[in-house]
Amino acid sequence: MPDINIPNKICPHCGGTLYYHNLKKNSYYCKVKQIERSKAYIQLPGFKEANRKRAIAYAKANKEKVAENARIYYNLNKEKCRATMKKYNQSEVGKEVLRLAKNKQSDNLTDYYIVNIIYSSMYSTKGVRIDRKSVTPEQIERYRKHIQLQRQTNQTSFKTRNYEKNIESKKSKQVTKN
Ligand SMILES: [Zn+2]
Repeated sequence: MPDINIPNKICPHCGGTLYYHNLKKNSYYCKVKQIERSKAYIQLPGFKEANRKRAIAYAKANKEKVAENARIYYNLNKEKCRATMKKYNQSEVGKEVLRLAKNKQSDNLTDYYIVNIIYSSMYSTKGVRIDRKSVTPEQIERYRKHIQLQRQTNQTSFKTRNYEKNIESKKSKQVTKN
């Protein structure tokens, strides 16, 4: 819907001449009033929460489109994005989110987490840097069972904790680099 300037139509509300033209109703509405109204609408309780939910639902339903748009935006605004990420990662909220994400990875023994443990165990015992993508799902599943067993019996948990510590320190280094 277009905004329109009507010089001979002075608004009694603000004294301006800028209007929002409702094409369907063919009516004019004060632009200043419209902006005030939308600002007030955003402040309504629950609006931000509902908006966030809507955005999350949209992102879930359109994963590829959202990822593609994010890639395009990132490539066009690399410096800005990096600065924003750095600021976020160093903020209290960002640190807490990162800590929770790490805990979640560790608690759920995600593929990503397991592959990282395999990587660091290979590197620390044999000095070999494996290709993370070469780890097969079967290997991941076997290692997952292995760690679950270790955690249950707690016999060799020292080793696991060492690997885990290794990864944690690497991750925090990566975070500060960004
Ligand atoms: Zn007005």
